[in-house]
This record gives sequence, C-alpha cells and structure tokens, in this order.
Amino acid sequence: MLIPIRCISCGELLADKWERYQAQIKIKEKKQVLDELGIKNYCCRVCFLTSPDLTDKINQYKII
Ligand SMILES: [Zn+2]
Repeated sequence: MLIPIRCISCGELLADKWERYQAQIKIKEKKQVLDELGIKNYCCRVCFLTSPDLTDKINQYKII
C-alpha cells in the first residue's frame, strides 16, 4: 500500500518524503529518520510507521 499524499489529519505533505524515508530506514532507526525529515506531528508519524511498502509483494502477481 502506498502512503497517502497528504496526512489525513493535519494535511501536511508526506508523499515527497516517502522515498527518502524508505532508503534511510535500511540504515538508521525509524525514529531518527522521522526526526531528520522534520516529521514532528504524531498523526504524520503514524502514517509513515503504519504504511508498509508492499510494492515488491504486489509485483509478484500478474494480471490475467
Ligand atoms: Zn499529520
């Protein structure tokens, strides 16, 4: 599932930070990455922490 373009609660733009977040969490802890990206609101942090990247799993299935 993809992350929402904007935060559902406060409306802050999130999608522009998604690729940097995905790249950084392989190296650092999620808390540190969110702090560095400037995501301070709890509502926005929840969007990142609860949106798993399922792109690779979805790509395993072919459309008939
Ligand atoms: Zn928010």
